[in-house]
Amino acid sequence: MSGLTLALSKGRIFEETLPLLAAAGIVPAEDPETSRKLVLATSRPDVRIVIVRASDVPTYVERGAADLGVAGRDVLLEHGGANLYQPVDLGIARCRLMVAVPARFDYRLAVQQGARLRVATKYVRCAREHFAAKGVHVDLIKLYGSMELAPLVGLADAIVDLVSSGNTLKANHLEAVEEIMPISARLVVNQAALKLQRARLVPVIDAIAAAVPAARAKAA
Ligand code: ATP
Ligand code: MG
Repeated sequence: MSGLTLALSKGRIFEETLPLLAAAGIVPAEDPETSRKLVLATSRPDVRIVIVRASDVPTYVERGAADLGVAGRDVLLEHGGANLYQPVDLGIARCRLMVAVPARFDYRLAVQQGARLRVATKYVRCAREHFAAKGVHVDLIKLYGSMELAPLVGLADAIVDLVSSGNTLKANHLEAVEEIMPISARLVVNQAALKLQRARLVPVIDAIAAAVPAARAKAA
């Protein structure tokens, strides 16, 4: 147990976590977009970063292959995340999990009439809970990406997807009709590491938490 391993995904999570890490004195030695390395050294000899798929972060941290990581609320809810300590909402990678339908589809009427909806999504667990709570019958169709296509080719009546600007929906003649929940990324920590590596982990968690308000103000 000689150092800390931090799991991050490439893209927006990596980019938006950088300023928060800097506040903890952690600066990656390389950019994962240009380097092909999956293990990155940092300015701190006792901290390294591993680059994993966004949806794999909870697995690495839960099993202790990484001591901590950053994952979206969407990913954590789909994964379960029951064994992860989630001390800080980082307020980054903000978007909303929403139900969207083709502009000409009358969602409210379909719900009112008790129609069985075909819903395509990557977020099967969140979608199932949402529609069950509303008492709406759904056939969930699991997809791994490009959910916007499904209603256009008749695979589904509706989709459940993450929306930020809404531009992708608009470009595909879809409109958001219901918000399921707001999404942001959270710091996740392995519970055993929190005990065994407490002296190293707690200052990092505290420094990141302290930097969140400033990062949030800048993003707003
Ligand atoms: P991959 O690209 O490897 O298939 P992914 O699509 O989950 O995985 P990202 O697009 O980097 O990876 O998304 C990472 C996290 O960022 C998501 O889990 C979500 O929490 C958040 N996110 C996704 N889309 C948006 C968006 N449009 N705006 C803001 N945050 C988003
Ligand atoms: Mg993506």
